[in-house]
Amino acid sequence: MSKKGRVFSGARPTGRQHLGNYLGAIRNYVTMQSQYDCVYCVVDLHALTTMETTRDLKQNTFEMAPDWLAAGIDPKESIVFVQSHVPQVTELYTILSMVSSLGKLTDLPTFKDKVRLQPNNVNLGLVGYPVLMTADIVLYKANFVPVGIDQAPHIEYARETVRSFNYRYNSTALIEPEMVVTTVPKVLGTDGQRKMGKSENNHIELALTPEETQKVVMTMVTDPQRLRRADPGNPDVCNVFSMHKTFSSPEEVEMINTECRRAGIGCVDCKKIYAKNLNANLAPFRERRAAFESNPGAIWDILHDGARRAREIAEATMVEVRAAVGLPE
Ligand code: SF4
Repeated sequence: MSKKGRVFSGARPTGRQHLGNYLGAIRNYVTMQSQYDCVYCVVDLHALTTMETTRDLKQNTFEMAPDWLAAGIDPKESIVFVQSHVPQVTELYTILSMVSSLGKLTDLPTFKDKVRLQPNNVNLGLVGYPVLMTADIVLYKANFVPVGIDQAPHIEYARETVRSFNYRYNSTALIEPEMVVTTVPKVLGTDGQRKMGKSENNHIELALTPEETQKVVMTMVTDPQRLRRADPGNPDVCNVFSMHKTFSSPEEVEMINTECRRAGIGCVDCKKIYAKNLNANLAPFRERRAAFESNPGAIWDILHDGARRAREIAEATMVEVRAAVGLPE
């Protein structure tokens, strides 16, 4: 089957991936491979904009790969690589900076959020983040970028920047990417309140053992009104129930929905069922991950081979870009 175009997506190097990463992005990455030429990148340069220390950067970058690969991202089918292994991205970033309006960059809601979060570290890279993101996308002539709706302003910014570049240099070298809005559910953490994330320490790592997984699941916050086993619960406000919908059978979901409301099932048993189903679903992933993890050299080979293929596309784009700008050969 011929593919519908090229997709680019980047993820920050956050180390071992968790359930929120899997349900929110990785699962979608895997599915898209059958429809698009996919370029998946660990964006280590982006991470520098908000990092206080780079001590764990290399390790966190590396540890993304076995999770991605074990989940089904096929390095023969897709290009999987590390952003900084393709230096053309920083060259394009510099060139695009010249057609980027500082006023628009500082107006973006994400920039304002970051300023609030790190008022003592408002660095130039932070302001230029959407320009680097644009360079990431257009360097590979990606047609589509899968993003959550909160990223929409960045994609619109990328499209405007492409138009500005092509207009100023009377060029067709860069193409405007389109946004593919991914309708992934917001995955809440074990606290049942905030989005699952490592920094919130409310995550369930994919690579945990079944026993460790069960232990974390048993800490999950349930319906706060259900204080005793004999109290009827409300699955509609319970995050454990939401997670059941992802990994349990429709019959089990139906049973819990009914029995919880009449106190026919307790939260301990309900969580045990969830942990069992989660572990069963993750078993093949964990087996593949262990195989990858036992051979770090092979993982670096995959990442370096991905970077080599990415550089080929990147350099072809840069030949056109340099010519359009009029830089000496
Ligand atoms: S029985 Fe299950 S769905 Fe109901 S409140 Fe407890 S954990 Fe939530």
